[in-house]
Amino acid sequence: MSNKTKRAVVTGGTRGIGRAIVKELAARSCCGVLFSDVVFIYNSCDECAHEIEEEIGELDIKIHGFKADASSYEDAEATLKYAAEKLGGIDILVNNAGITRDNLLMRMSEDDFDKVIQINLKSVYNYSKAALKYMMPQRYGRIINIASVVGIIGNAGQANYAASKAGVIGFTKSLAKEVASRNITVNAVAPGFIETDMTATLNEKQKEVLLSQIPMKRLGKPEDIAKVVGFLSSNDADYITGQVIPVDGGMVM
Ligand code: NAP
Repeated sequence: MSNKTKRAVVTGGTRGIGRAIVKELAARSCCGVLFSDVVFIYNSCDECAHEIEEEIGELDIKIHGFKADASSYEDAEATLKYAAEKLGGIDILVNNAGITRDNLLMRMSEDDFDKVIQINLKSVYNYSKAALKYMMPQRYGRIINIASVVGIIGNAGQANYAASKAGVIGFTKSLAKEVASRNITVNAVAPGFIETDMTATLNEKQKEVLLSQIPMKRLGKPEDIAKVVGFLSSNDADYITGQVIPVDGGMVM
């Protein structure tokens, strides 16, 4: 595909990593991609959505927030239809929406298990399937799933979350094999521990323990993840598919 503006959909784009991804895609002007028009979805924070639209709206691109539940297939179809109408098509999908409901398994409720699987894993099915309807006929697409290093190495107190992210990794590799011949790549980024609302609840002791496991001795920033997503969305990554790229300061190697 040429260097024209690309059209991207990002789930969970209002806060943390998703917000940084929306900004990265909107402002990116290297590596074979000029600017991306973006539709982002979010769950609750209308104020955050307006803030982003205003902030990024200053660039010469289209940016639209859309309120939708990532765990609903019906919402996914509505989102992609909205995005295709507003942007004129879909080239890039970033499956980023995610939650945690941590507890030791003996204390984990069925609802906490189900919710995490629905929002973290089922959403990837929902949005990928809905997006492929637009990507297949044009024989071009970039799907980037935000997994986690926890889906690779596990973590006590996160059996639900680790299962959802390991599922995302299996999904990524399987779908990559299904759609490679249509020039659609599917990759995953596996963040380590990143400074967002999701990790803001960690206490000092927990942070100390984490830092002792990270060779680079710092938590990551949302931008550390967004830059890799930007690269995977660009033409420079045309021959990369089915890969899981850890961005974790060397935590998992
Ligand atoms: P965050 O700061 O808590 O932001 C989560 C985002 O997801 C928000 O924009 C939220 O929208 C949206 N969201 C949540 N539930 C949703 C739903 N049902 N439908 C639509 N949108 C929904 O989280 P984050 O730390 O940026 O995490 C982003 C992704 O990275 C997640 O998949 C997470 O598992 C993964 N990850 C994070 C870390 C980390 O250390 N932070 C590490 C590894 C992987 P609202 O603002 O409207 O609620």
